[in-house]
Amino acid sequence: MALNLLTFSISFFIFFVVKPFPIVESRTIEFSEHSFTKTLRNLRGIKKGQRMRGMIELKSYLNKFGYLNNYSHTNHFDQNVEVALKEYQVFHHLRATGHMDAETLRKMSLPRCGVPDVVTPHDNLKGLTILANYSFFRGSPRWEESKRALTYRFVSSTNVLRMDLVRFAVNNAFQSWSRVSDFTFTEIFNPNPNVAIGFHRRNHGDGHPFDGPGRVLAHTFAPQDGRLHLDADESWISGPGSEIDLETVALHEIGHLLGLGHSSVRDSIMYPSYEGVRRHLSQDDKDGIATLYGYQNIT
Ligand SMILES: [Zn+2]
Ligand SMILES: [Zn+2]
Repeated sequence: MALNLLTFSISFFIFFVVKPFPIVESRTIEFSEHSFTKTLRNLRGIKKGQRMRGMIELKSYLNKFGYLNNYSHTNHFDQNVEVALKEYQVFHHLRATGHMDAETLRKMSLPRCGVPDVVTPHDNLKGLTILANYSFFRGSPRWEESKRALTYRFVSSTNVLRMDLVRFAVNNAFQSWSRVSDFTFTEIFNPNPNVAIGFHRRNHGDGHPFDGPGRVLAHTFAPQDGRLHLDADESWISGPGSEIDLETVALHEIGHLLGLGHSSVRDSIMYPSYEGVRRHLSQDDKDGIATLYGYQNIT
């Protein structure tokens, strides 16, 4: 997968966002008026050969999520951008038009995980990479066999939600993965957990700063790093019905924590966009974890 991100020490980022509702009022407005969304709206209809303000932001977006390697810092929509955009469209099951149509614009406006989607390195214009299902990080890193009883600890640089709500949501997400794997997850309070989960804002010291409200919600490092970071500037909630559901995002990020990359299967929890509350694993997720760890007969 475009996992430049995951191997943190190399260049991996996985972002997941979360934010709870006690703090929400003014942020909701900020979210809907997010400047990237405005930039995208400006780019509606643009295609190869044209120039438009905001193209640099679009290129940066495609680069961040693994679709565009090298790009010129100009507002020119060139051939490389067209190929990258088509790959983005294919991954997300949109029509591969290669230009900024309404559907593509809508999809890019959704909040999403910070981990890149694309697994294969892009060689110039080599054609479209189509991923039918689950994927792994480059090199398929996973937890070694002696590490199946993982410990975790909450380590945040800022607090955004009541800890009992955070614990409840994250524990539920861990249990969902436990049921389809041989992993167990136990919260501990000593300084050396296998997994450190926390809320952080903007630049938080790992080289992958969060982007404020909207867009990137969270990121997680590939095994066996154990860092799972939630963007403190999101409107997090712990129940269905409003902004970003913590359990949904935790479920997705824990998939990364265990070694799964993004899936293009739309009902998979490992699909990169956040499109509402989803608190169960799909067959594609179960197949992914079973394949990575060599389980038989996981249903
Ligand atoms: Zn992700
Ligand atoms: Zn981080």
